[in-house]
Amino acid sequence: MSENVIWQNRLADEQDRIKANGHKGTVIWFTGLSGSGKSTVASLVEKRLIDEKLCAYLLDGDNLRHGLCGDLGFSDADRDENIRRMAEVAALFEDAGVIALVSAISPFEKMREFAKSRNKRFLLVYFNTSVEACEKRDPKGLYAKARRGELTGFTGIDSPYEIPETPDLILDTEKTDVSECADKVIALIRKTI
Ligand code: ADP
Repeated sequence: MSENVIWQNRLADEQDRIKANGHKGTVIWFTGLSGSGKSTVASLVEKRLIDEKLCAYLLDGDNLRHGLCGDLGFSDADRDENIRRMAEVAALFEDAGVIALVSAISPFEKMREFAKSRNKRFLLVYFNTSVEACEKRDPKGLYAKARRGELTGFTGIDSPYEIPETPDLILDTEKTDVSECADKVIALIRKTI
């Protein structure tokens, strides 16, 4: 960062925003293999929170790749940059007083730690769905493509996924249905905001 870049103070602070929204901002970060259920659960959590008149927004990794992260691919460096941008955007949402739900494979511990370091309130939800179950579901047809060799560097097939060491919640979507998974996440959020 250039030494000429300064921090602008603003008149409204975090307490003002908490008062306006009626709750604190927080980041709930969903990590797991493609097809593990992150978007499905996060989307239901977002809907339920909004129906309860809470300020929530889902930053879905797939969707952000259509815009903000549209210039990035899936090399290790691009995946890191993708998560860096998502973490920074989530930090802005948190500061704005929003319950930011972030759904991204985020395979590397280093970048999940980075995301945590950029946010005051940060909870990690790990979807421990097995690669076999994800491949059977294959909602986006990506595992089939990876098996045919049309996709390389696919997490769980030929690119690693580092299992989180200290997640705040583990969801086993092979045993727990979508609605119950959402309940568990919402219970966790309620303790934070
Ligand atoms: P991801 O966002 O992790 O890539 P998706 O949410 O897009 O995964 O896809 C998960 C797929 O698994 C969907 O087709 C969903 O209907 C299915 N599924 C089955 N059981 C569950 C569950 N308990 N939780 C979440 N998704 C589930």
